[in-house]
Amino acid sequence: MSDSYFEEGSLVGVLTPEPLDRVLDYRAPEGGCWLGAFVEVPLGPRRVLGVVWGPGRGDWDPSKVRAVSRVLDAAPMREELRVFLERAGAYTLTPLSQMLRLATRVPGLSDPPSMRKIYRLGQGAPDRLTDARRRVIDTLVEYGGLGFTLKELADLAGVTPSVVKGLAQQGAVEEADTPRDAPFLPLDPDLPGKALTGDQSAAADSLRQAVRSGRYGTTLLKGVTGSGKTEVYLEAVAETLRVGRQALVLLPEIALTSEFLTRVEARFGARPAEWHSGVTMTERRRAWKMIGQGDAQLVVGARSALFLPFRDLGLIVVDEEHDSSYKQEEGALYNARDMAVLRASLTSAQVVLASATPSLETWANAEAGKYARLDLTARFGEAVLPEMRAIDMRAEDLPGQAWISPTLQSEVGRRLQQGEQALLFLNRRGYAPVTLCRACGAQVGCDHCDARMVEHRFQKRLVCHQCGETKPLPTACPACGVEGKMAAVGPGVERIAEEAARVFPDAKLAILSSDLFGSARALKAQIEEIAQGETDIIIGTQLVAKGHNFPRLTLVGVIDADLGLQGSDLRAAERTFQLMRQVSGRAGRAEARGLALLQTFQPEHPVIRAILSGDEEGFWRAEAAEREATGMPPYGRLAGIIVTADEAAAAFDLGTQLARNDAPLREIGALVYGPAPAPIARVRGKHRVRLLVKAPKGAPLQAAIARWLAPVRTSAKLRLAVDIDPQSF
Ligand code: ADP
Ligand code: ZN
Repeated sequence: MSDSYFEEGSLVGVLTPEPLDRVLDYRAPEGGCWLGAFVEVPLGPRRVLGVVWGPGRGDWDPSKVRAVSRVLDAAPMREELRVFLERAGAYTLTPLSQMLRLATRVPGLSDPPSMRKIYRLGQGAPDRLTDARRRVIDTLVEYGGLGFTLKELADLAGVTPSVVKGLAQQGAVEEADTPRDAPFLPLDPDLPGKALTGDQSAAADSLRQAVRSGRYGTTLLKGVTGSGKTEVYLEAVAETLRVGRQALVLLPEIALTSEFLTRVEARFGARPAEWHSGVTMTERRRAWKMIGQGDAQLVVGARSALFLPFRDLGLIVVDEEHDSSYKQEEGALYNARDMAVLRASLTSAQVVLASATPSLETWANAEAGKYARLDLTARFGEAVLPEMRAIDMRAEDLPGQAWISPTLQSEVGRRLQQGEQALLFLNRRGYAPVTLCRACGAQVGCDHCDARMVEHRFQKRLVCHQCGETKPLPTACPACGVEGKMAAVGPGVERIAEEAARVFPDAKLAILSSDLFGSARALKAQIEEIAQGETDIIIGTQLVAKGHNFPRLTLVGVIDADLGLQGSDLRAAERTFQLMRQVSGRAGRAEARGLALLQTFQPEHPVIRAILSGDEEGFWRAEAAEREATGMPPYGRLAGIIVTADEAAAAFDLGTQLARNDAPLREIGALVYGPAPAPIARVRGKHRVRLLVKAPKGAPLQAAIARWLAPVRTSAKLRLAVDIDPQSF
């Protein structure tokens, strides 16, 4: 037999998602097993999930080696995915068992296949053929007798489930039981797409050619919002389907998926598989299986979709590639954009990084010729970028605790008169960031974190944005006990909405902030309402910056353009530049050029000036030059080390000890800074201390860090996390 099959009784090494630091030896069960097979193995008194990772090591007492309990009914994990997990783990310094956890987050993997009801064309004739009933029958005929779940069929036909049920009673539709994990409807890449414009079709041609090459390659697809990036990369998806491979599209927000699914359906005639936290357990299990069998051609998902067991992945699109939500900030600390490139390189796939405002890393990789670059220069349908102007807040006459300047007010007023929409943008959730006592000056903080509690007026509570703890709004000061002196200081979106309601009493307002929507569905409903023009003024956080099309929106007012520039973060300039350009891009359409107004106290700041002038390449070049001069990424490498302990002193002790014993780092020319309190020094009652390692570009950073940290003994009370390529510090 081949070396990927283990006969009954032979030794196999099984990797489990349990926190053990090695692959364990077992005996192959009756019937043998394949390399990569999903299995259940005994571990102490329990049975746990595992994957056959290779031959056993044979370094255990043979009489103590136990047998694999059973082989699960799932396609074995392919070599490509196993190597990807190993390499991604080595890059992020994450234990392999923890990487495996990312790839086995699927419910019911060990359950036997279960059945579900499907509906298909029956023999009987309905007594009365209403319009709705005809649509159901037409749909079933159109799909050549395929069966659907009740919901699928009702959705496809645009009827309520009761219509289908009615037809079933009369035998015109047949109910049948089939295995739950049914394949997805086939997507048709040859349905006509939109007629592309000149540079769109040139870009689509390049991507199609790249896909056909069957080799690895990464392309930056750059173009302002509305320039047709999505149309273009859907053509790359089409080509991938034509050559019989699978495609994955990563989106930064679940809120964007429904709009995207509708577009996929319009282009390919059916919906793709979805993979994100909003997908039900049953659907997840089905998607996971179908993806492994190659019966799901296209997957749309969040960053975790990168770890799905594709059978033959030919294309990964990372939409809004600069988005910080691609960085997983808990557990395995990985950046999905970088891991997409890694996975694609292992499976000879193409990567498309789409963005209006690429990350500096991606921009620099394109400059250096490591990535190809395609530019879409115009907005589709001649829509032009908005005019951008600063409002110098030093010259505006505003009372205390008010933030909408007279200049902005009059521009908003004009839009309302013309029946257009205005957006007021402030990247801060809640009502007020600070609640303080006017008698003693004390601010209300979280009991578990070194963070202020943020007032959320709609919830009538104070909320900690670090740990989620809430408290009622105090009437008396928790510090000095004086009654009636508590005051809200500074603005959040809720407070801007209150101000807007005061200034524009007749306008219809809507607030878009992630915490105000219990579900993706509620958010989607609100977004649709706005898109249909039922709102006059939108007040929003970062949530509005991303990809939604609001056709009547012609004015964007940024309440505090300086907000992101405070602090010393490496990416402060880059982030502010990206965010301001994205938000501004919401304004305007073909017939009416939009206007973006930035309220700022420092209109001469270089970043604000770059935003206003629109000289993007100039901004990137200046930012790149500064990073290069200081050896910062992408011209040097960084790693963050976070020590967490119950006692601040314990965290500092370990930090200090690490900083002193830095020989392994010095050997590769790296420097260590710190220990210093982490930006939020206490979260959920744990104290956090940070060290920063800075290394030259080509240095073997991970190996050096591994040697450096090897002697450290951690425990439940004293934890250590390594963050390679931290997003911020
Ligand atoms: P981006 O992804 O760059 O923001 P989209 O692909 O979403 O841009 O395009 C913006 C809007 O313009 C969408 O509604 C899209 O359907 C439309 N559009 C773009 N290109 C074309 C085209 N060639 N023909 C028709 N509609 C187009
Ligand atoms: Zn807290």
